[in-house]
Parts: sequence; structure tokens; C-alpha cells
Amino acid sequence: MIVASYDVVVIGGGPAGLAAAVSSHESGASTLLIEREDRLGGILKQCIHDGFGLERFNQRLTGPEYACKEIEKLRECGVKVFLNSFVREIKQLERGFELEIQNSKGVARVGTKSIVFAMGCRERSAKQVFIHGTRPAGVMTAGQAQFFINIQGYMPSKRAVILGSGDIGLIMARRLVLEGAEVEGVYEIKSEPSGLSRNIAQCLEDFNIPLHLSTTVTRVFGKERVEGVEVAQIDSNFKIVEGTQRYIPCDSLILSVGLIPENDMLETLGLVLDNSTKGPYVDQNMHTMLDGAFSCGNALHVNDLADFVSESGEIAGRSAALFAKGELLRGESLPVEDNGKFLYKVPQFADPCSSEDLIFYFRVKKECRNARLEVKNGDDVVFSKKYMVLRPPEMEKVIIKPEKIVHKDRSLVFNLVEANNE
Ligand SMILES: Cc1cc2nc3c(=O)[nH]c(=O)nc-3n(C[C@H](O)[C@H](O)[C@H](O)COP(=O)(O)OP(=O)(O)OC[C@H]3O[C@@H](n4cnc5c(N)ncnc54)[C@H](O)[C@@H]3O)c2cc1C
Repeated sequence: MIVASYDVVVIGGGPAGLAAAVSSHESGASTLLIEREDRLGGILKQCIHDGFGLERFNQRLTGPEYACKEIEKLRECGVKVFLNSFVREIKQLERGFELEIQNSKGVARVGTKSIVFAMGCRERSAKQVFIHGTRPAGVMTAGQAQFFINIQGYMPSKRAVILGSGDIGLIMARRLVLEGAEVEGVYEIKSEPSGLSRNIAQCLEDFNIPLHLSTTVTRVFGKERVEGVEVAQIDSNFKIVEGTQRYIPCDSLILSVGLIPENDMLETLGLVLDNSTKGPYVDQNMHTMLDGAFSCGNALHVNDLADFVSESGEIAGRSAALFAKGELLRGESLPVEDNGKFLYKVPQFADPCSSEDLIFYFRVKKECRNARLEVKNGDDVVFSKKYMVLRPPEMEKVIIKPEKIVHKDRSLVFNLVEANNE
């Protein structure tokens, strides 16, 4: 039996879900926010370093400070919140959806006209990375190490090896050193680092932590606890270069080998995920291919800035509210195409008749220098920008004014040309 009905239900209380719930409420929709943990704020709660909010608040905030500002906004509008509540199942009804929610009081069913998926992402774990050897205590993800130190106050390591140069690993390398541990090195299988340039400089170089590219961990040693790891160099075909193996004594192996958007629930609703983003396909309203289902934040694609996460949450929340009121018309969605140089672009579809700014986020496949991006609508260039350098870890944002799109039946095409090819 459905115990309550809302216009919009937002799943996930991180920065994406918080922004979505506030904008849904401000757009006049009755809104419920569901969070499985006992506090709002998502991953920001454990990111105690600064660097958040430069775009959104023009301030350099820590993760918890950023989260507090968003939580205050939510409290001011009085949006209904369920904490310690987990969405177990979603059923699509003829109109809207029914959610089965589990919490300490039992199971409740809630009806809604629209849903915003804002469940963030999870870290790739040791099981998803093939490493020979034993499985002793001390093998953990960078996010787990961050949770131990910043939330629980435990030191999980005295001498660590970090596998993968993702941002969380870089941030944790610095954090471990600041807390008195030794970080022997960061080992990255690719020939380029995966994290942001600023994190390489501020977290590794400033602390003399070596970064070994084209190198990986091939074996873990230890019975109860990690005693050491074997590392080896990797050739351009990702094969071990024989004779380069060496043993490193350490008490932990910390993994920073990628994030995966949390979208199992969407798949149960029959939504196909974009293989490049691991999130759903959306249009510029963050509307998925399923009517009434919206996605934002890290559940849509892995963002590097919380500010962009909040921005996509705002769009998704507002659009979900309009959909619930019958005011969001799905115009003609044209696929956004490219010349093969892009890892991905979000949104993947755009309504050329939209009266709102079209906001796109993209990442390139590989580093390009002195490149020019041109976005074309038919033969007209509707956006053009030169970039000194574009790197896959750094997400870029493009805003296209709606009045520029004059060929309403022609798709948008992203073309990236490097200077020597122009
Ligand atoms: C270590 C680290 C360092 C970072 N550093 C920076 C930085 O310096 N500057 C910056 O701008 N950004 C930084 N970021 C990025 C930023 O923190 C994230 O992009 C942002 O927090 C993602 O927000 P989100 O709301 O999409 O997801 P999350 O913050 O992960 O929130 C998702 C929420 O959904 C909840 N949830 C999931 N499934 C369910 C379910 N079934 N039912 C109910 N609730 C559910 C989760 O419990 C969680 O609270 C960093 C991220 C990390 C991990």
C-alpha cells in the first residue's frame, strides 16, 4: 500500500541530490529526499581538504563546509527528508513510479510522478583489479582509507603503496603523509596520470611522493596483514616487462583505480547505460530515455568538481518538477555527435528548440595540445574555443546559447582539431 505520494522523489543526499531537492521545491513540486546514511552530504562529509565551491560560492571551502551550505538551503525550504532509508525497488506505474523503501521502522511504499537519481558512484575494488597473491587485511580503496582517517579517526597504514593515480588516491597520499605515515609511491599502469594536474602538483610533488607511470602492482604478499607487494613495469600493450619485478615492503595497498556510477536501479527499470559514462543517456534537462526519470551528479557521469555536480542537480530537480506538473515537453531530441576525439559528452541528446542555455560537459580521449573545439549546427559554427591543453582527467564545460541553433532539424557536432592538423 502506498503511504504517501509526492510530485518528485530524489534518491541520494549528496550535493547532486541536495541541489535537485531544493530546485524541485522552488519550482513548486512536493518533494521527498531519500538518503541511506544517517547524515546528508554524501561523499563530501569525508573530504576535509579544501578546494570545493570556487565556482558555486566563490569561496574555497572544505567538503563538509560545502555540504553544510547546501543542507542549510534544504532545511530553509522544509523539504521532507527520510534518513537511514534505502530504496530497494522501483516499479514503473502507468503514470509515475512506486518506490519500496526500507528503514528501521520497516518497509514503506511511496508514489511519485518523477524521480531524480542522485546516488553518486562507488569505487572499483580489489576484486575488479586482477592482482595475484593472498588477500590479507590492509588492501583497501582510497575512499575507505579516507573514511577510516577523516571520519573514524583510525590510521589504517604506516607504510603504504598506492595503486592508481586517481584523484582520491592522490589526496590520500598527501593525507597519509600529513598524518605521519610513509607513502612509498603511487603506481599507475597507464603512461599518463589519471588525476587532475593540480592534485599531482599539490599532493605528490609538494610532498616528494614518487609517481611511477607504466608500472603496476603484480602480487600481494602477507597472511593476516599485507607484508609487501611486487611491482613491475608495463609495456605499451599492457604486458609485464620481464625482469623489472621488484618487492616493496609495506603494510597496506591502497587502490585508486576508478569510480563507477551507482545505477543498478536504473538498469532494473530497463534503462540502457552509456558505455563511456556508465550513466544513463540524458537530454539537456537531465531527462533519461524513461519519461519522468532524471539523473544528475556522479550517478550521471564522474565529475571532478562538486560545483558541476550541484549544477546538474539543479537542472534535474527543476526539470523533474516541471515534468510532474505536465509542463516539461520532450521536444525533438537530436543526438550530439563528434569527430571521435572525445571520451564522452553529456548530455548525449539535445532539443534544438529549447529556450534554455545548452550546457555540455566533455572529456577528451587523449591529451591534445593547442586544440580548437568547434561545435557545428549544420554548416554553422555555434561555439568555438581554443585550448592550450586538454587532458582526459580534466572535465570541460561548454555553454551554447539557444538562439545560435537555427537549423532545428540538424544535429550538433563536436569537432576537435589540433593546431598542426588545422
Ligand atoms: C576523495 C574525493 C575528493 C574530492 N575532491 C574534490 C575537490 O577538491 N573539489 C571538488 O569540487 N570536488 C571534489 N570531489 C568530487 C565531489 O566530492 C563529488 O563529485 C560529489 O560529492 C559527488 O556528488 P553526488 O551527490 O553525485 O554523490 P555523493 O556525494 O556520492 O552522494 C550520493 C548519495 O547517495 C546516497 N545513496 C546511494 N544509493 C542510495 C540508495 N539506494 N538509497 C538512498 N540513498 C542512496 C549515498 O549514501 C550518498 O549520500 C572529490 C571526491 C572525492 C571522492
